[in-house]
Amino acid sequence: MRIRVDPELCTGHALCQLHGPDVYVLDDLGYNTTSSRVVPPELWEQARKGALACPEGAIAIEEDENDEDGSTSAS
Ligand code: SF4
Repeated sequence: MRIRVDPELCTGHALCQLHGPDVYVLDDLGYNTTSSRVVPPELWEQARKGALACPEGAIAIEEDENDEDGSTSAS
């Protein structure tokens, strides 16, 4: 999973970090400075919650076909 934050859309609500404190980094004014990063499986839930919480839709989540639930399918 990769997240991308559009700085043009971010208006500094800081809700992303509230829901994803280990994923999203804010500056002193509350703007998200996490432009793009790969998120390890243990933080996917935080990444998703933070993206959903953003009222500006500034966070895009890109998942590839292996990202399902952080688990590998048996068989
Ligand atoms: S919730 Fe959205 S608008 Fe607010 S700081 Fe995070 S990315 Fe920016």
